[in-house]
Amino acid sequence: MAKQTGFMEYSRENPSKLSADERIKNFREFEFLLLESKITNQAARCIDCGIPYCHSYGCPVNNRIPDWNDMVYKNQWKTALELLHSTINFPEFTGRVCPAPCEYSCTLSINQSPVTIKHIELQIVERGWKEGWIVPLLAKTKTRKNVAIIGSGPAGLTAAQQISREGHNVTVFEKSDKIGGLLRYGIPDFKLEKWVIDRRIAQLEAEGVIFEVGVDVGIDISPKYLKRTYDAVVIAAGASVPRDLKIPGRELHGIHFAMEFLSQQNKENAGDIIPQEKKISAKDKNVIVVGGGDTGSDCIGTAIRQGAKKVVQVEILPKPPSQRSTYNAWPAWPQILFTSSSQEEGCQRYWSLDAKKFSGENGNVTGVSFNKIQWSEADKYGQRKLIHVQNEDVFLEADLVLLAMGFLHVEHGNLVKDLNIATDAKGNILVDKNYQTSEQGFFATGDSMTGASLVVRAINHGRRTAQAVNNFLK
Ligand SMILES: Cc1cc2nc3c(=O)[nH]c(=O)nc-3n(C[C@H](O)[C@H](O)[C@H](O)COP(=O)(O)OP(=O)(O)OC[C@H]3O[C@@H](n4cnc5c(N)ncnc54)[C@H](O)[C@@H]3O)c2cc1C
Ligand code: SF4
Repeated sequence: MAKQTGFMEYSRENPSKLSADERIKNFREFEFLLLESKITNQAARCIDCGIPYCHSYGCPVNNRIPDWNDMVYKNQWKTALELLHSTINFPEFTGRVCPAPCEYSCTLSINQSPVTIKHIELQIVERGWKEGWIVPLLAKTKTRKNVAIIGSGPAGLTAAQQISREGHNVTVFEKSDKIGGLLRYGIPDFKLEKWVIDRRIAQLEAEGVIFEVGVDVGIDISPKYLKRTYDAVVIAAGASVPRDLKIPGRELHGIHFAMEFLSQQNKENAGDIIPQEKKISAKDKNVIVVGGGDTGSDCIGTAIRQGAKKVVQVEILPKPPSQRSTYNAWPAWPQILFTSSSQEEGCQRYWSLDAKKFSGENGNVTGVSFNKIQWSEADKYGQRKLIHVQNEDVFLEADLVLLAMGFLHVEHGNLVKDLNIATDAKGNILVDKNYQTSEQGFFATGDSMTGASLVVRAINHGRRTAQAVNNFLK
């Protein structure tokens, strides 16, 4: 245990951030690292409770949180890093972008602020990079087995690293021009700067992983070819089919899926030139973001940085309560109102509105009409019914509408069709308990198998799939 009385002596301290006015001037990350003296006190707050829910319930990869808190408190950072890497390959990604379910299940959070687990995770791994402790780990022996991985998001990268460290030859095929999946072209730079991904890719390359970018499996090469050539294939293709809003006026100019907008900005930040006729810009525009989740928040932060006149976010669900309800007790994820850093930067939020119609002039969108909704009380299963309120429509002006209503499933193109790979009722790739698809030797992992989720879950499944592939190859 770090320090018996730590949680009574020290309060939670969050890392400081640039003010909203300052940070919206560019697309850089804006959170600072706490000083080492302060981080030691934060680690000292961990009470190493008998049943650490943060580790066993909150964190999807079961990070050994109390153990590394103890090591940080005792100034044994290298051991802390080894403990961290024993359960997660890329803590610098989760230390930046994880919503930290661990902190909501921290025992301290029952009656006070939880331990700053996510920030301590980030500090441990960044210390590791700074000290030069993170180096390529080469397999002791090579097996001559060849594994193809389709997709280079966090699930594909994790599987690639784990499989390669078992001595197998790994080639990652990525249809984009750069490696990283949604880490690269979904999550904005102000949450995750892209040198963070490049630094890890260099480690994977030094460990022997081969990356082939600009190869769309199913178009440039066929899954059947991969089946003939490789001993095992892992599909880590994500869940990129967006949920659409098929209401009158959808054909108007100025209505885009969130990912079209976000990926353009990340490309521009990387120095790519987007042709003027294809550019989606929020500058001087009234922007409506449809969808109240994290992707919507990323659209808000990006639109504000581009110089939008006004940004509005609309959600169909009711406004959540400010505190946990009795049906949503600790250690479960709290169903409460969150305000993201992007929402803090200046955005008007609406709840309980259902989009009915897009309006336009000369082929361009000018606004959206919404129907007010009343939600019934939750029944004994927690289900609420949606009731449209008659004659209470709301019209909001817009020159740009961004659709951020989630994703349906993996693309059902040639990658899935060529070998007739089975999907489940939701359209995700169906796997058995060993991550095997309906095609012998083909595995699936990450969002392509679960549906759209989180980076930490993608990493978790990447590790488990790698273990299953290794067992299969043995
Ligand atoms: C805008 C946005 C913001 C997000 N922010 C967060 C966040 O802050 N925190 C968090 O935890 N999660 C966040 N998420 C979710 C998280 O990014 C995903 O859950 C995670 O990236 C899924 O990892 P993956 O490896 O399964 O798939 P992906 O990251 O989607 O990667 C799949 C890769 O496969 C490639 N591919 C697909 N088909 C083929 C093919 N046929 N041939 C070759 N390559 C192919 C794609 O180009 C892509 O690079 C966010 C998601 C979005 C959309
Ligand atoms: S990966 Fe996420 S849930 Fe796990 S310890 Fe880190 S912040 Fe917490």
